[in-house]
Amino acid sequence: MKLVLFGPPGSGKGTYASRLESRLGIAAISTGDIFREAVKQGSTLGKEIKEYLDSGRLVPDEKVIPVVSTRITGPRGGKGFVLDGFPRTVDQASALENMVHIDAIVNLSVPEEIIIRRLSTRRTCRDCGAIFNLKTMKPRYEGVCDRCQGPLVQREDDTAPVIKERLRVFEKQSRPLIDYYRDRIPLLSIACDDLPPEDVVQQIITKLEKLNLLGFTSTSC
Ligand code: AMP
Repeated sequence: MKLVLFGPPGSGKGTYASRLESRLGIAAISTGDIFREAVKQGSTLGKEIKEYLDSGRLVPDEKVIPVVSTRITGPRGGKGFVLDGFPRTVDQASALENMVHIDAIVNLSVPEEIIIRRLSTRRTCRDCGAIFNLKTMKPRYEGVCDRCQGPLVQREDDTAPVIKERLRVFEKQSRPLIDYYRDRIPLLSIACDDLPPEDVVQQIITKLEKLNLLGFTSTSC
């Protein structure tokens, strides 16, 4: 199964990708996570891209595409994957098409007021990247990751001015991908609103089953 999760910042791509990873046994590949890790490590790539992440602008295609190509052709991508945050431009989508056949695109839609509320209350584990929310997906202990006990922090780009820029960039550079994909690959539209993550993930799996894209029955939540 080779899947793309598409949607604006705050539509839940990271949360759903990690749940689909465990339910379908495929690798969740998040370009945002890869880039944040590179910045944290202070690698050459990290130094080159930091300003883009800090400002909410897109990292240039020529830096993004090779990173994804290595991941999806590597051992983790071999059994299948769910891409979170890639592609984000038409050039990235066309590069992806040349790398591999994608089975379906999941188009997540969420009203903007919910996005803004979610992003400003989102907390992420500094050590393992797990995602929580102060209102809807609280950690068991305040400020502590359920998975690895790392500290929960607010992402630097989850502040009001950067959120606004990321939403603007999404509308201008990423939204056109829907038209690009419309007649190429099955597009599964999911209205997430304020639904619990497990309901959204179940909707995605049900739609994949209806399209006969799952050759097995997935494990339950
Ligand atoms: P995300 O975690 O997906 O919200 O991504 C965080 C940031 O990483 C974005 O605001 C961009 O600066 C950068 N980024 C992630 N994925 C891509 C991509 N496919 N193309 C360009 N920039 C990206």
